[in-house]
Amino acid sequence: MQQGMPDLLGFSLEELTGAVVALGQPGYRAKQIFHWLQARGARSFDEMTELPRALRECLREHYQLAPCEMADKRVSPDGTVKFLFRLGDGETVESVWMRYSYGNTICVSCQAGCRMGCAFCASGLHGLRRNLSAGEILAQCHAVRREMGQPLSHIVLMGMGEPLDNYENVLRFLRLASCPEGLCIGQRRFSLSTCGLVPQIERLRGENLGLTLSVSLHAPNDVIRSRLMPVNRRWPIAELLAVCKRYAEGSSRRVSFEYALFRDVNDSAACARELVQRLRGMLCHVNLIPGNPVPERGFCRSTPETVRRFAFLLGKGGVHATVRRSLGCGIDAACGQLRNSRLGGEHIEFG
Ligand code: SAH
Repeated sequence: MQQGMPDLLGFSLEELTGAVVALGQPGYRAKQIFHWLQARGARSFDEMTELPRALRECLREHYQLAPCEMADKRVSPDGTVKFLFRLGDGETVESVWMRYSYGNTICVSCQAGCRMGCAFCASGLHGLRRNLSAGEILAQCHAVRREMGQPLSHIVLMGMGEPLDNYENVLRFLRLASCPEGLCIGQRRFSLSTCGLVPQIERLRGENLGLTLSVSLHAPNDVIRSRLMPVNRRWPIAELLAVCKRYAEGSSRRVSFEYALFRDVNDSAACARELVQRLRGMLCHVNLIPGNPVPERGFCRSTPETVRRFAFLLGKGGVHATVRRSLGCGIDAACGQLRNSRLGGEHIEFG
């Protein structure tokens, strides 16, 4: 993003009103600008044709609309489309468009790279480059919607990055995207996926947003989980499940656990039984995902029979589980695979 120039797409209506008034303009102009930015997804001030030319120029002098240019687009036969976007400073992030029976869903990125260091994940291969601003997360939604020419009904924060490691910007994004004068996506149509930053989950619980909390669990015990996910060394499974339980009870919404199955790592019958012991009685759902092989990381996908057996054992134990339909095969739709940056970044040290 251009240094020193605030990105107007990340402004709330109140902030925009303040900015417009500070430029000596009537407050109602803010509503018009907000509509152009948030509902219509304008990419330049010139598009805002009912604004006087002088105001558009004035806006251009003081503000920017952070760029989010499409750098690549891959279409899978199942209709899933993966986008690579280039931001103002050259960083690249991915977004995925998926068509489900209940509506069109976009999966957005919230960081360029990631510092959580999960062993199986391509997004974190090169560490964290930087956080995305709220405007840059929103810009992905607008760009994809424009490109697809269809309305969006659901948003999932399951792209690159750890949303709760970019808490303020992600919350700002959620508020803007759910705004009735903007994209108007109801908060119940958001899912946020986290690797398990316990204090931030607790904080999110206090916001009472009504979104679906998705937690990347991927293991039934601390030995396996700490090996796969360094974050577990700081906040082990018992603490994570305790906060999830509070979240579920407080919101009366099931917490969704993501469990990617990797051959001979976390897919045994013993793992399934241990997971049942952990989750039985909790308001939750387990999403089983055949792990996406990431060659750089040496992880193989579990066989379909193993995935079925795992799902069966969870069900038998009374834990609600489904196998996620694998979309986007052949287009590198797994997290971070398309970007595969050559750049280095920061990793966080957990315990
Ligand atoms: N940082 C957040 C958001 C990322 S969401 C989180 O950890 O939840 C992306 C999801 O894809 C996470 O559940 C992540 O664990 C999962 N994932 C990453 N690499 C994967 C792979 N190779 N196979 C299957 N799932 C993977």
